Amino acid sequence: MKYQIAVVKGDGIGPEIVSEAMLVLEKIGEKFGHEFSFQEVLAGGCSIDANGIPLTEETIEVCKAADSVLLGAVGGPKWDNVPSEKRPEKALLGLRAALGLFANIRPAMMYKALAEACPIKPEIIGDGFDIVVCRELTGDVYFGEHGRRESDKGWGVVGYDDMNYSVYEIERIARRAFEMARVRSKKVTSVDKANVLETSRVWRETVTRIAAEYPDVELNHMYVDNAAMQLVRNPGQFDVIVTGNLFGDILSDEASMITGSIGMLPSASLNESGRGMYEPIHGSAPDIAGKGIANPIATILSCAMMLRYSFGLSAEADAIEASVEKALNDGYRTADLAAKGEKALSTHEMGEIIRGNL
Ligand code: NAD
Repeated sequence: MKYQIAVVKGDGIGPEIVSEAMLVLEKIGEKFGHEFSFQEVLAGGCSIDANGIPLTEETIEVCKAADSVLLGAVGGPKWDNVPSEKRPEKALLGLRAALGLFANIRPAMMYKALAEACPIKPEIIGDGFDIVVCRELTGDVYFGEHGRRESDKGWGVVGYDDMNYSVYEIERIARRAFEMARVRSKKVTSVDKANVLETSRVWRETVTRIAAEYPDVELNHMYVDNAAMQLVRNPGQFDVIVTGNLFGDILSDEASMITGSIGMLPSASLNESGRGMYEPIHGSAPDIAGKGIANPIATILSCAMMLRYSFGLSAEADAIEASVEKALNDGYRTADLAAKGEKALSTHEMGEIIRGNL
């Protein structure tokens, strides 16, 4: 099969890590008989430098026409002082909207070989954890009415943001979460604040109704404050966590941090046609950009997600994940993972080891 991938390398370490991931895809193509063709476009700070804006129509059109988008990271201190509507991060929001991405999928798992990087005590971690946070992206407090008014109690200015969720949006993300759980450990935890928020009561009713379509998957509900606590108390209890945009923003970062390895974690943002944008969860790491020492694994694992979720190529995705795991089990580390005094591989060397394993 032939697949067209739009590539947005972005800023900072983006070009270094994405180049390694593209080579991994090429290797997969050779091994499994697929053809991946790449079209590189600018977004973020590099687009501000070249075009005066973080996201051009041309980039949007190329990304919309592609079968999927592979993104590195955008932003950096060079563009910290540009006006907010022109900031590099606006490119991500613009792409998400243009591609209709509504589901952000973030796995957080502990690799046995990296257990010492996990900030949680081994007796709590037990056999480890393998969680996927499924965060809704189009609704919630981010997209309600925002504004300021004078307090009627004479308390000065009041800022307000309207939190709302439609049944349609909740059904769509719930189905995505149940479908994912079906091919994992068959357990969904829906996180809300239904003891306080009407939005959350609509959320809970809707997720419960959709659960009836998936009798093979177990559903439980959890308040967000408890979920935040349970993630550090007993992360092994979770399989798929489905939640709204605001709670998901916070919980997905918390889930990432308990792995202890920011350079390892991939993500996918999907639309209704199953196309998506795939990117590491970390940023452009300006402190190490250009040195050739960034960890490319999060971006390489994002490619595995692309193969599995957008192209339906599970064996190919499994092969990438197994190659990464073998590299770690064999003791290979980039600088962010290496212990003091331990030899660290460059970005390219880590890429080569993983491709060798393939
Ligand atoms: P960051 O994730 O870029 O870096 C945090 C720390 O983690 C740094 O010490 C960095 O060196 C390290 N790190 C991150 N990725 C790594 C990797 N692959 N290998 C080794 N070490 C790695 O977060 P930040 O410093 O808060 O942000 C830097 C810039 O990135 C900012 O401009 C921010 O706006 C942007 N950012 C972009 C995205 C995105 O494009 N999706 C996400 C987050 C931050």
